[in-house]
Amino acid sequence: MTPRFDNSYARLPGRFFERVAPEVPPAPALLALNRGLAARLGLDADWLAGPEGLAMLSGAALPEGAEPLAQAYAGHQFGGWVPQLGDGRAVLLGEVVAPDGARFDIQLKGAGQTPFSRRGDGRAWLGPVLREYVVSEAMAALGLPTTRALAAVATGTAVVRDGFARPGGVLVRVAASHIRVGTFQYFVARGDTEALQLLTDHVIARHYPGAEGPLGLIRAVAAAQARLVAGWLSVGFIHGVMNTDNMAVSGETIDYGPCAFMDHYHPAKVFSSIDGHGRYAYGAQPQIAAWNLAQLASSLLPLIGEGEAAIEAATEAVDSFVPAFQAAWLDRFGRKIGIAAAGSEDLPLIESLLNRMATERADFTRSFRGLSTGWARDEFTDPMAFDQWAEGWRTRLAQEADPEAVMAAANPVRIPRNHRIEEMIAAAVAGDMGPFRQLQAALAEPYRPDPALARYEAAPLASEAVTRTFC
Ligand code: AMP
Ligand code: MG
Ligand code: MG
Repeated sequence: MTPRFDNSYARLPGRFFERVAPEVPPAPALLALNRGLAARLGLDADWLAGPEGLAMLSGAALPEGAEPLAQAYAGHQFGGWVPQLGDGRAVLLGEVVAPDGARFDIQLKGAGQTPFSRRGDGRAWLGPVLREYVVSEAMAALGLPTTRALAAVATGTAVVRDGFARPGGVLVRVAASHIRVGTFQYFVARGDTEALQLLTDHVIARHYPGAEGPLGLIRAVAAAQARLVAGWLSVGFIHGVMNTDNMAVSGETIDYGPCAFMDHYHPAKVFSSIDGHGRYAYGAQPQIAAWNLAQLASSLLPLIGEGEAAIEAATEAVDSFVPAFQAAWLDRFGRKIGIAAAGSEDLPLIESLLNRMATERADFTRSFRGLSTGWARDEFTDPMAFDQWAEGWRTRLAQEADPEAVMAAANPVRIPRNHRIEEMIAAAVAGDMGPFRQLQAALAEPYRPDPALARYEAAPLASEAVTRTFC
């Protein structure tokens, strides 16, 4: 059965987007279909797996009701202003409304050139497609807000990257919306206050029905980003390209490029090959989120008012991020060490552990998970550093009702480790989707221990470690 589309973004004025059909691929083949997500959206998975479904997922044919378009946006890339970006390699097919009333974008990423492609080919190769599929689904399984992957398709097109011809692919991405901080920036840069008002109304109705006006919207986005970034930090995630065009106002993780889950902990950790100065390092993410929110607030100023008072009100709304983030971070990291409702007096204990982990090159995921299993100390080059910390920790835990249960729910056993992702991509490119399926299955229940999945729980050997990630 064809999905029923209801395209609210396409009903906005024409200057919000360019209408463009996806490129027809020469030899589409379905590599992966997310049946669980299809059910959540109210889509017919058997139809999606069939010829008509494949035609829709690959861009070969448009289903009834689709109104394909590329969204316009701008953004700050690594702090530098770019007045026009937009979907250069993605086409929004339309929106579907799930049985529970939730609205979702269905977007084909890698579906060919659009008016926003600039010099790009509009394509994606299988490596990043499968990487985003695995990592975004892992993020969802970890319980964090994220765009999702409905399907991965091979197109039969060769995509040239770094001088190599790679197999082309399309990721079918599902999101609460693809509206970014950069979408607001696009209109303020054009002096288009009418569009800013329409966009604000659209976003409030779609994501934050209780929010009042532009200031309410800034506060709601700040709260959502505070929760999101605290969640990222709690699982060792580094987004890698937190440009304002890669921050969704919905509060979902979006744009899985050179992202990574770190192995051994360090706050200055960077994986992205394009982040030479560590602007988007692990520990820099909260400050960058606040900076991005300030760009959102600047964009909304024409709707807030004029003069000092407007700037002050906007600043106050942006600043609401700080206490919200601190509270979310403390709650997350308190739970990670077994404290159900950590207070500021618990901060030194948490920070002392993190400092020791950084000095002792302790694996982030294994150290936290190992707190309840007893093997955390073995993750430290000098286990004594752990033992010294653990004395005070055990004293504190005596006040907790069920620290084991709290830790088991807060500390995943398995994360999508870079070396397993690279291994999966290499196999897929060679035609073997087995490792993709195994990795997916291993990450579906990340908090449940399973001795059969030990190879996905282990940290990489020095010879296996992947320290650089690419777009
Ligand atoms: P990203 O770094 O993925 O956030 O992309 C930044 C901008 O570059 C967005 O406007 C993308 O649509 C555009 N872009 C990235 N890759 C391509 C490509 N292969 N072809 C066309 N546009 C692209
Ligand atoms: Mg982007
Ligand atoms: Mg990207």
